[in-house]
Amino acid sequence: HERKRKEGVNLLELAGSYYRERLKMPEGEGARRYLAARGLSPEVQQAFAIGYAPAGWEALKGHLAERGISEAVQIEYGLLVHREESGRTYDRFRDRVMFPIRDIRGRTIAFGGRVLGDAKPKYLNSPETPVFHKGRELYGLFEARQANSRLERLVIVEGYMDVVALAQFGIRNAVATLGTSTSEEHLGRLFRMVGEVVFCFDGDQAGRQAAARALQAVLPQMIDGRQARFMFLPEGEDPDSLVRREGSGAFADRITCASPLSEFLFDHAAEGRDLATIESRERFASQVLSAIGKLPEGVLKSLLLTELSRRTGVAQSRFEALVAPGDVPEA
Ligand code: ATP
Ligand code: MN
Ligand code: MN
Ligand code: MN
Repeated sequence: HERKRKEGVNLLELAGSYYRERLKMPEGEGARRYLAARGLSPEVQQAFAIGYAPAGWEALKGHLAERGISEAVQIEYGLLVHREESGRTYDRFRDRVMFPIRDIRGRTIAFGGRVLGDAKPKYLNSPETPVFHKGRELYGLFEARQANSRLERLVIVEGYMDVVALAQFGIRNAVATLGTSTSEEHLGRLFRMVGEVVFCFDGDQAGRQAAARALQAVLPQMIDGRQARFMFLPEGEDPDSLVRREGSGAFADRITCASPLSEFLFDHAAEGRDLATIESRERFASQVLSAIGKLPEGVLKSLLLTELSRRTGVAQSRFEALVAPGDVPEA
């Protein structure tokens, strides 16, 4: 099992250096121009080991075959696609800018590839493999740790380009989930490394939904002393577009001013409710209580109950009787 794992990791490293080499070759010109047009310097491209998968159907397959790597392993690690009907195999990533996804120790475990134009799908990720589990990994975590000797805060964004563009602008502590929503598992891993996470999703409907889901996922992780905050971007912007438009200073200020969890929790529950009727206040209070019920026992939980009581005029003891008991955090 362990030997097979090594073989897979070795294969992914080989593929990563192949993609980086191709980016420097004449065939990589379109990709180089694309990356330059998106404002990415050679230094940041190198820090993220960005490469290019050439356009052919069997480019990587041929390269790896010359090195004695079986098709079966290439398929298992998601580099080669096997068509059942025809029995044919071909490169999964073709004519795409390649972002290696690295684990905490810097080993390449998967790839994300972006088309150079408007073709669909815009991004293609490696499938689940023996070393890659989408719901666990975060893009940019290795690079953030490399760039910061003491990491205190991580900014969670949606996309590869957001992470890389922020790094280009000197904000080198962003990580992205890989096309999935932020899970409790992601957050558990992050809070073992830093005391604070800031959610910064795109300024669109999907981004706001992602923030609401992130709130639910982060609540059980809110042991006293940890901080979670939420940043909301102007409509139509994402971190990449905004940092380019406003510059790094303004973006850093937005991070500093992000809403604390408590504020977002109450605002979100109040959204779309006038709170003028008992019924709307009931729904508001129920939503807040159900969120508070997801928190571990601690000071934050007590303070939020006090605030809910202040906002509704209902005695705190009444809410305490209704709220679910949380886990007692380990010391
Ligand atoms: P870009 O700036 O390069 O156009 P983006 O990162 O702003 O891309 P979004 O549409 O905001 O793109 O998507 C955010 C993230 O969701 C992407 O970085 C990628 O990880 C994932 N994603 C988007 N589209 C797809 C897709 N078609 N298949 C898989 N994952 C995708
Ligand atoms: Mn989006
Ligand atoms: Mn986006
Ligand atoms: Mn974008």
